Amino acid sequence: MKIISSKKDLKTCILEHKANKKSIGFVPTMGALHQGHLSLIEKAIKKNDIVVVSIFVNPTQFDNHDDLIKYPKTLENDTKLLTSVSCDILFTPSIKEIYEENVASQKFNFDGLEHQMEGKFRNGHFNGVGTIVKTLFEIIKPNKAYFGQKDFQQLQIIKKLVKKYHLNVKIKGCAIFREKDGLAMSSRNSRLTETHRNAAPFIYKTLKKARKKFGTENATSLIEWVENQFKKHPLFELEYFTIADEKTLETIKNKEPNKKYRAFIAVFAGEIRLIDNIRLKN
Ligand code: AMP
Repeated sequence: MKIISSKKDLKTCILEHKANKKSIGFVPTMGALHQGHLSLIEKAIKKNDIVVVSIFVNPTQFDNHDDLIKYPKTLENDTKLLTSVSCDILFTPSIKEIYEENVASQKFNFDGLEHQMEGKFRNGHFNGVGTIVKTLFEIIKPNKAYFGQKDFQQLQIIKKLVKKYHLNVKIKGCAIFREKDGLAMSSRNSRLTETHRNAAPFIYKTLKKARKKFGTENATSLIEWVENQFKKHPLFELEYFTIADEKTLETIKNKEPNKKYRAFIAVFAGEIRLIDNIRLKN
């Protein structure tokens, strides 16, 4: 595996592969890799000649400085994992390499997707995400890029970014990879206390119960039910639970046939913020 930290070197390397008619698959990450990331990378490896993984903890998408500073960094282990799955190129740019002297986001209009859920609670988050993903796409020019449904709102926003800017890349959404006990894998899970980690499967269990109830209950009473489950729980603080249309990400009032719905949740386990979501059947 080649490890590259300069955009110029990466561009040269990609140009060579493109000249040899190789297809490029790309998986952007913030590192502290786990099986969830690897599931995306393995998919990319199956479908592309060359796979590029980036590790870059993007400062402009963090609204909480403490979260940015404490974001887990495990580059040595990440490199071993990537070598073990035969990743071709690891891109590890510095902040300066990406932003030069101006560490700031571009402003985007994602047709309202950015104002829902994470956008409401993490100020400027999707401008930061849009900025870094667009920059990385411009450097790497991948044929396909892989994103997890774990960050479903981000996935929909990236699809919108590609459409709005006519970017020539296919976006592939990948299923959520979970621990055996149901907790969605996340780099932040390593920061949970033992007590919070042991209790954390409660989040996905509640989502599954909500999915069952969605067959018979209306959205408003179901949202109230979930809010009550968390009010009663001594270890978690619910930030939001909502049921939204997959396309618009707007909270639904009434179920309509032929629409796809998903339940979304954000929870604080101590100071660690966890998100998850689940597809609903109507
Ligand atoms: P991150 O390093 O958290 O920015 O994640 C990089 C990519 O991996 C994003 O597209 C995430 O949605 C995806 N990802 C993170 N965790 C999981 C998971 N448990 N299952 C599937 N994809 C994931």
